Amino acid sequence: MAAELLFARYAPKNLEPKNSIGAKWPRLLDRLNLRPVVEGRRTAIKMHLGGGSGFTTIHPFFARGLVAKVREAGAKSVFVADSPSAVAHAAERGYTAETLGCPLVSISGATDGYFQTRPIVPPFKTLTEIQVGGEIAAAEALVDFSHVKGHGACGFGGASKNLSMGCVTQRTRGALHQLEGGLAWDREKCSHCKVCQENCPNGAIRFNEQGEISIFYHDCKFCGHCALICPEQALTMEGGRYRDFQRGMALATQTILSGFDPANVVFINVLTSITILCDCWGMTTPNLVPDIGILAGRDIVAIEQATLDLIRTEDLIPGSLPPAYALGAAGHLFERIHRKDPYAVIEFLAETGLGQRAYTLAEVD
Ligand code: SF4
Ligand code: SF4
Repeated sequence: MAAELLFARYAPKNLEPKNSIGAKWPRLLDRLNLRPVVEGRRTAIKMHLGGGSGFTTIHPFFARGLVAKVREAGAKSVFVADSPSAVAHAAERGYTAETLGCPLVSISGATDGYFQTRPIVPPFKTLTEIQVGGEIAAAEALVDFSHVKGHGACGFGGASKNLSMGCVTQRTRGALHQLEGGLAWDREKCSHCKVCQENCPNGAIRFNEQGEISIFYHDCKFCGHCALICPEQALTMEGGRYRDFQRGMALATQTILSGFDPANVVFINVLTSITILCDCWGMTTPNLVPDIGILAGRDIVAIEQATLDLIRTEDLIPGSLPPAYALGAAGHLFERIHRKDPYAVIEFLAETGLGQRAYTLAEVD
C-alpha cells in the first residue's frame, strides 16, 4: 500500500486568510497526529538554521507553530537542534529561544565534541562509521523538519540531507563529502599545464602547492570538458561516481534513524523558497519555482519522492538561474541544473528499507 502524505498547498484557493499556508499549517500538524509520536518523550526538532546572509530557511513562524503543537501533544520536552556553528549564529536569522518557544541546542555540543559513534554496516568504501550528534542520539522522538532546495553535490537537499549531513559532527560531514567523485587524475601523466583549470567552465579545478589536483565536486557538472581538452589524457571520467555521495547520505540517514523507534519519527518537508544551492552557502538567491507548500508523513522515502515530483522544470521562473548556469537537456530540474540525478538518493534510501517510493497525497484545506 502506498504511503500517505499530507500536503498543504502554498497557493490559497481564494484570498480568505483561513486558506493561506500560515493558517493551514496548524491544521496539517493536527492531522499529522503528533501525540503517539512525541507524548512523554524528549523530542528533537532537527532543522537547518542557515548561515551568513541567507534568509530563506524555514521561517520562525512555522518552527514556532510546530514547537507549540509538539508541546500540546504531550512531549516531555522539546528543543530545536542544528550544528554548533548554525546555532551560534541563529539569532541573526531570527531564530532564538524566545521566537521559537523552546531551547535551541547544538546537536553535538558547543565544540562539536559530544557525539555517539555508530558503525556503518557493512562499511561503504571509506565510510566505516559516523559520529551522531549526542543530542540526537539522546532524543526519544524526532521531527525531521527540512527546507527543500537544490544542492551542487547531490542534486537536492531535503529530509535525508537534513539528517545525514545535519545530525552528525563536522568530521563525519567531511567523511561523507570525501565520497564525492567523478573524475580520475593520473599524476604520472599530468604535465601541470593547467589547461584543464583554465578551461573548466565552472571553475571547479584547482592545483595545490604540491601540484595535486583538487576538484570541487559541488561545482563540477561532469561536462567532460577537462578530460577532452587535456593534452596528456591525464583526466578521465569515472561514470556516475557522484552517486557514492548520495549512497553515503542514505546509509548515514539509515544509521541515524536506527536510534529511534519508527513510530517516534515524523518527516516534514517545506517546499518554499526553493533556491539553487544549499542553505549553508550563507546567501539567498532567487526562487527557482513558485512556492509549492508543505509535505508531512511517516515515510522518508515517499516524502522525498513526492518532493521531487512536485518540483517541475516547466515551473522554472525565468531569470532565476545565476548567469553562469544553463539547463541541461534532460532529467529532473535539479539534474538539468546540477547534472546529478537527485532521485539516486531516493533509490538508495529505498534499498535500505526505510520506506517506499509509492505515495498518495491527502490535501489539507
Ligand atoms: S590539462 Fe591535463 S596535463 Fe594539463 S594540468 Fe590538467 S590534467 Fe594536467
Ligand atoms: S567535468 Fe567539466 S565541470 Fe567538472 S571539472 Fe571537468 S571541466 Fe570542470
